[in-house]
Amino acid sequence: MLTKVRLASRAGLLTVLFVAVSRIWNNSYLADKPATTPGNTSVITAENVQPIFDLMVEYGEAEKKKAGSEKHQFLVVLATSKSEMEESPQWERLPDSIVGEFPRIDFLLNTNGSYPCANPGHALHGEIVAVDFGCFERILQNFERQLLNDNSKPWQLLFVYSYYVPCSGISDIGYSCAEELMNFARNRHDEFGVIVAYSHVFRADIVGSRKTNEERSLMSLKEGGIITFHRQKKGQYQQVVEYSPPRKVAENATSFQQNMNECLRNFSTADCCALDAADRSRLISFFTNDVTFRCTSKSFKTGLLTEGAKNELWKCMMTVTVSHFVNNCYILATCRSEMSPVTKCLRQTLQLDMWSVLLGSQVSPSDPYSGEWKPFDGPWKSLYLQSPMEDVNGKPVLCKSDDSSKWPLCPTDLVDNPAPWSTTNVLMLMVTSLMAAVVAGKRKTWMVDWLRL
Ligand SMILES: [Zn+2]
Repeated sequence: MLTKVRLASRAGLLTVLFVAVSRIWNNSYLADKPATTPGNTSVITAENVQPIFDLMVEYGEAEKKKAGSEKHQFLVVLATSKSEMEESPQWERLPDSIVGEFPRIDFLLNTNGSYPCANPGHALHGEIVAVDFGCFERILQNFERQLLNDNSKPWQLLFVYSYYVPCSGISDIGYSCAEELMNFARNRHDEFGVIVAYSHVFRADIVGSRKTNEERSLMSLKEGGIITFHRQKKGQYQQVVEYSPPRKVAENATSFQQNMNECLRNFSTADCCALDAADRSRLISFFTNDVTFRCTSKSFKTGLLTEGAKNELWKCMMTVTVSHFVNNCYILATCRSEMSPVTKCLRQTLQLDMWSVLLGSQVSPSDPYSGEWKPFDGPWKSLYLQSPMEDVNGKPVLCKSDDSSKWPLCPTDLVDNPAPWSTTNVLMLMVTSLMAAVVAGKRKTWMVDWLRL
């Protein structure tokens, strides 16, 4: 009997404790958290986000009409605090604090502008514009401006409504918006939370080659810690991605440059520099540093090597490398034999999983010949302190002929005796190449190989 009473009183005590803890918990999630804390995300429910998303859809439809767009797609982004979200059921329209002098809302259509990560001829989607062209940053800064006199800085929420779910895997466009949002959200996770809602999934044709892979989109959003809702036909919102902390890069992640460098060193054709092994190794590191610097120092990208980031690097590095060979090697056809390792190594490195390889910052930032990097999960612009080429006054000194060979993978024997373009030279190169192809059993494809960069 006594035991039963004790048990009952313990159970009662536990109930009281549970109720007390629940009250504290519930009250705390209603309050805004300091800017450095993600806070309790359980407050972000379909019911709580509906009023804001509905007003965003209304705002977006009106803006689309004003812009005269007949496309379905539009994007609206808006920054609030959690307490504003709590108040939003009382809003009849978006308050002046959001749409007024320092607006915390923006409307974006897809554009036709060209951009490094997008393939030519494809529209640039609003999400890319929002992430890479400072749109998110601007509305967050406007929010900060309004909060200047408020010591209890709230943890912010960034609402993103897109008519179509942020895209993934659409053939040939060169990037996936869901990945770009994921990368953005995970990088800034300590400052604010990102919440996405969408109404439809893009499907352009019956064959299905140009459509969004919805499953992949939702997976990317989840990996960014982005809570996601599907706005259904009757206007209700269904939560399709629950909150989980953003995915971290693998602990044993390596750097892009290290992978590229190791690959280049393993190519026997790179021997034409006619240097000793140590110098050749330093020269390849210089090449890797210089090309990487040229392709990252002006980029807006940050963090992960997403599909779009890889596309940007691929296009830039091929262009930079080709232009270097054209401008500095005198005979492109011969230098092309050195392009092949660069192309192959770049392709191989960019095939690595984005969670296991990041661009690297230099371990010795003042040494442009240094072949050591540590993976860097931040803005690409901060990877290098300065241009490796400036470090050596435009002349890497390790080449055999240091006065004319600016580019480390150029064949030094040709730099010593530059030969002009001539029919005889081109024919000789073709004959040599054909003979090599016959020996290698690639007679049928030799022309393709020869013409390939
Ligand atoms: Zn997209």
